[in-house]
Amino acid sequence: MDLSVIIPIYNEESNIPALYDRLREVLDPMGLRYEFIFINDGSRDKSLQLVQTLALRDERVRYIDFSRNFGHQIAVTAGLDLSSGEAVVIIDADLQDPPELIVPLYQKLQEGYEVVYAKRRSRQGESAAKKTTAKLFYRILASITNISIPVDTGDFRIISRKVVDALKRMPEQNKFIRGQISWIGYRQTFVEYDRAERAGGETGYTYRKMIRLALDGITGFSDVPLKVATVSGFLVSGVAFVVMLYTLYARFVSGNYQPGWASLMVSILFLGGVQLIAIGIIGEYIARLSANVRQRPLYIISDTNIPTTSPPDSQLR
Ligand code: UDP
Ligand code: MG
Repeated sequence: MDLSVIIPIYNEESNIPALYDRLREVLDPMGLRYEFIFINDGSRDKSLQLVQTLALRDERVRYIDFSRNFGHQIAVTAGLDLSSGEAVVIIDADLQDPPELIVPLYQKLQEGYEVVYAKRRSRQGESAAKKTTAKLFYRILASITNISIPVDTGDFRIISRKVVDALKRMPEQNKFIRGQISWIGYRQTFVEYDRAERAGGETGYTYRKMIRLALDGITGFSDVPLKVATVSGFLVSGVAFVVMLYTLYARFVSGNYQPGWASLMVSILFLGGVQLIAIGIIGEYIARLSANVRQRPLYIISDTNIPTTSPPDSQLR
């Protein structure tokens, strides 16, 4: 198998037929042995039936049906676990990632790179709020992690079997695949593209899911928030100490003191706020720690047409 195309699906019935046609138009002329791996991530529409119908007609169509919605990153992970291509493309189902770009991605990979990611030159049809938060997030992440996670890229990319094998050895529960791929290293490069509007249907990434992904990215690849908590603790204590000295001076030496309701409230609220933020930051890390200690399987497959001799790696863990 030369190429596996991994496509996570969450309520994408309006996009699947067009996606399949466009992928075939791109891949057939390339003369490769390839497979599609559709991962149905608990869709509530007809996505699964559509994919199963395709699979009846075309044996290159493989599918994995999850027992519920596990999330985009986990869906991609399952696809990677069960893929068999020498190269693997990760692509969104909503045609925001143009299938035509697979040709240059594949060519670059053949030049000896292990990872070729698609970098967004522009993004269409997304709210200003989403674009700004995404831009901000990628830059904050880049500045606080010690590995270089490329800015303005999603998971649309091609990776070699070597990288897939390395990914399979990373058992973390809170996946941030683009970060993991940067962490792995090897020769990486990119191809630029203009991100289109979603072809049909609506986004499956609610703000809640985006915030979780952002926190997974930060906590998975940086200890800076913990250090910020420590440093702000020291700063605030420093200020509190000075104020304390002044209070003692005012009370016992100058004797010029007022019943200070306002300053009391301000300092209590301020100290309380800093403490709660610091505890919250620690909590984010502890939550992920405990998720990893539980060692639950990452996903549960309810149905697949991919022959598996042994259960996939991450189901055993
Ligand atoms: N997706 C998924 N599980 C989810 C949410 C999304 O598998 O819980 C898939 C979705 O079908 C699409 C890809 O992940 O193929 C990207 O999602 P979406 O287009 O909704 O995200 P956006 O482009 O709006 O960030
Ligand atoms: Mg999309």
